[in-house]
Amino acid sequence: MTTVFSKIIAGEIPHYKVYEDDVVYAFLDAHPVNRGHTLVIPKEEYRDIYETPDEILSHLITVVKKLSIAVKKTVGADGINIHVNNESGAGQEVFHLHFHVIPRFEGDGFEHWHGNVVESEEEKTSLAEKIGGNI
Ligand code: AMP
Repeated sequence: MTTVFSKIIAGEIPHYKVYEDDVVYAFLDAHPVNRGHTLVIPKEEYRDIYETPDEILSHLITVVKKLSIAVKKTVGADGINIHVNNESGAGQEVFHLHFHVIPRFEGDGFEHWHGNVVESEEEKTSLAEKIGGNI
């Protein structure tokens, strides 16, 4: 399946390119949370982080870091959120892995989540062990 992002890379859809190398492409999000909100994607189409080869991910994250610094500098942000949605259950809408690089400003009202699920000590111990065991 060809996603809208592959069409962007192919130049078939208007967009605002920020960066490109052999492996990675970056462009402004069409519906930015704040000015400068940038999406960073592998040129090859992988559905989500699970399917993306480690060597591609390694390069992607170094580009995400560079772009985080560049976006922050450009828009004078107070901070940067780096966000990935994997699967529709987590809010993914475009099934081509993408890192959101989101500039943040004090009091911008885009609240990052802070959970309030109460876990017992027993549950926490069990979860930590089970997650570690599932790697
Ligand atoms: P997600 O929910 O993580 O899959 O987010 C998909 C993101 O892609 C959203 O933030 C959209 O605004 C963005 N998006 C969708 N179509 C385009 C497009 N043609 N150009 C730029 N960004 C887009």
